[in-house]
Formats: sequence, C-alpha cells, structure tokens
Amino acid sequence: MSRPQQITVLGATGSIGLSTLDVIARHPERYQVFALSAFSRLAELEALCMIYRPLFAVVADAQAARDLQGRLQASGLATRVLFGEAGLCEVAAHAEVDAVMAAIVGAAGLKPTLAAVEAGKKVLLANKEALVMSGALFMQAVRQSGAVLLPIDSEHNAIFQCLPGDYARGLTQVGVRRILLTASGGPFRETPMEQLLAVTPEQACAHPNWSMGRKISVDSASMMNKGLELIEACWLFDARPAQVEVVIHPQSVIHSLVDYVDGSVLAQLGNPDMRTPISHALAWPERIDSGVAPLDLFAVARLDFQAPDEQRFPCLRLSRQAAEAGGTAPAMLNAANEVAVAAFLERRIRFPEIARIIDSVLNAQAVEAVESLDAVLAADGRARELAGHWLSDRNSRRGEA
Ligand code: NAD
Ligand code: MG
Repeated sequence: MSRPQQITVLGATGSIGLSTLDVIARHPERYQVFALSAFSRLAELEALCMIYRPLFAVVADAQAARDLQGRLQASGLATRVLFGEAGLCEVAAHAEVDAVMAAIVGAAGLKPTLAAVEAGKKVLLANKEALVMSGALFMQAVRQSGAVLLPIDSEHNAIFQCLPGDYARGLTQVGVRRILLTASGGPFRETPMEQLLAVTPEQACAHPNWSMGRKISVDSASMMNKGLELIEACWLFDARPAQVEVVIHPQSVIHSLVDYVDGSVLAQLGNPDMRTPISHALAWPERIDSGVAPLDLFAVARLDFQAPDEQRFPCLRLSRQAAEAGGTAPAMLNAANEVAVAAFLERRIRFPEIARIIDSVLNAQAVEAVESLDAVLAADGRARELAGHWLSDRNSRRGEA
C-alpha cells in the first residue's frame, strides 16, 4: 500500500481546521499530518501536536515558537516549530506535502495559500478571502503550477459536485444556465430592521445551522459571507456575476444548485456539517466516510426558498457591485469588511455600520487593475486605512454630539 498523504493544515485550531483533523483521524492509513499552524490558541496547538505528531508546527512569532518548541521537546516530540508568514509559506510549499488545507481566516491566509498553489499542491480552499482578494492572479497561478484547487466552502463544494468534470471548458459550453448559491439568511433573517441597531456580537455569532469561527459568523449575519461567496464562485467556475443567483434557503440542507439549459437543476444535499465538503475534497475523486450522520429527509420535512432582501442585507449589493467592478474592488471590499467586523466584535460599532464602512471605503477609492500581488496588497492596505479613518471620524462625530 502507498504511503499516507502528507497534509498541512493551516489554521488548525479553527473550526475548519479541527473538522479537518477529525476527518484525518478517521483515516490514518490514508492521511498523515505534516504541519499544523495556529495564531493565538497555543495550548490547543500543543495538544494537537501531541495527538497528530506533525513534522512542523507554525505559530505567530519567534517568542511563541521558542515557548512551544521547549514544551514539545520536553514531551519528547521532534516537531520543529516555525513562525510567521515565512513559516506558513514553508509548510504550505514543502516538497513532501501532498495537500494543504487553507483554513486561516481573512487576508492573513493569502500568501501561504498562494505559496501552496504556486508549489502545485492539492489545495483545499476554505480561506475564501484569499481568492476574493487576488482572484485573477490566484487562478492564473493555479493554471501555471497545475495545482488542484478544490473548494471547501459548502456551497462551492456543492456546485463543484453538480458540475460536469469538464466544466473548465466554460459554463455555457457545458450547458449551464445559472448557478444557484444558497444562503441560510443567518440569525437576522427575520429580525425587525430597527432592532438590527442593537444586536450584539453574541447574537450575530449564534448561527441557526452552522457552528463556525467568529468572523465568518458575523459575515453570515450580514450576508457579506454570501457576497464573498458570489465573488468566490465567479473565480472558481469562471462565471459572470449575473450567472450567480443567491437563494435564501433557511434549512441549509441544499448546499447549492446548478441550473442547466435543458431545465435540469442539480443540487447537492446533506446535513450542515463541514466534514462532508472536507472529506469530499480530501478524497476526491474517491469518497470516504466523514463521520457525518446520514441525511434524514423525514426529519427535514420541508425545504423553503426566498429571494434575498438587499435593503436588509446591503453587503450583498455591495459585493455584487465589487464583483462587477473587478480589479482591486473585491480586495477593498474584503479589507473594509475585515476592519468593520473586528470593530463590531470589539463593540466599537453597531451592526448596520459594517455595511456603511464598506460602502464608504468603496466610494472613496478608485478601482484599479490588478497586475501584481503588490497591487492587491496596496489596495488591501489602503482600504484598511480608509476604514480606520472612518472609525476615528465616527468617534469624533460622537464626541461632538
Ligand atoms: P476560525 O476563526 O475558527 O479559525 C481561524 C484559524 O486561522 C485559526 O486556526 C487561527 O489560529 C488562524 N488565524 C487567525 N488569524 C491568523 C493570522 N493573522 N495569521 C495566521 N493564522 C491566523 O475560522 P473558521 O471558521 O475555521 O474559518 C476559516 C476559513 O474558512 C475562513 O476563511 C472562513 O471564511 C472559511 N470557511 C469556514 C467555514 C466554517 O464552517 N467555519 C465554512 C466555509 C468557509
Ligand atoms: Mg459557505
């Protein structure tokens, strides 16, 4: 039997990282952990190293690396501890690695994910922000290196499963009319609009169907997550924004659909558990047990659909605008959103202000063409700066009031 595949898990302590390790642990004959990374939860990372015994662990800085290295050595582990972006890129591109789970949240994942792509790895993409920011460059790097890019986002994984194997010939060529991207609508789907001013981070993070990290939970509540996913779908499947329709489906059982010209609509269904898309991508083109319970359609009983309300969810409209504008617009949208979500989680702004910040940043800066990673990073930096100004102006506005 062949040796187990060597897997790097970037963002191992997060929600996707832990689900990935759960799947890996079910198939020790197939998969072995090569490297694990974490940013802040070092005790958790240490515990994961004890279980999975990776060759490498990666932490945020030199001090944390020394601390963890000392503790792992004292426990008799040979794991080498690296740090920072360089350490992440090293374990993403390492010659011995077969597949990389890109599950760092936000722009911080861009360079390590690109490093895995450029090294021609099998890349399991959870870190949608990386693709949203750098779409054209990212996809060009995939083509040049021959990397195998598999979507982990449940919707994109569903779309991938519903498309024919040769979809890269072009959606129209393979008879696709539309992609139907489903969305739960999050915890505020029916909250009276005036109450949105008073919602707390705890309420925003209490997703009705999925248990996820805090940033993506807030994105789901604002539907910015669906906006980012719209852009993600355009890049992954070479779709125009107008070919992707968002459908609210509160049960989160249908993970997305593909509508063909002959009237056939294919859907992928399953319990809302990320171990399904993770297992699918890890084993693709084979299938393995994920630990997810079989779908009980009698318990689900009904499937509902609604059109999204862009008044309630302005982030959806802003994302579609950024998708249509192209160039640096999605990177700016993403960066402004990251700053706004962090401010909301720190209780510095109210929930509806997330969209206001993004809108203001997108209006303040002209969209430029994306010719290099530097252009993407500059747009990201500029948008963060503008969002920072918005926040400090807000405080002075409130001080005057
Ligand atoms: P999370 O917050 O639970 O975990 C994030 C991980 O990234 C942690 O391991 C953390 O240590 C690491 N990290 C955070 N900041 C970092 C930094 N600056 N440098 C290096 N590492 C850093 O997030 P999550 O819910 O697991 O989501 C991870 C990614 O997967 C996100 O891009 C999210 O949009 C995407 N995703 C998540 C889900 C889900 O169900 N959780 C579903 C679809 C897509
Ligand atoms: Mg998703």
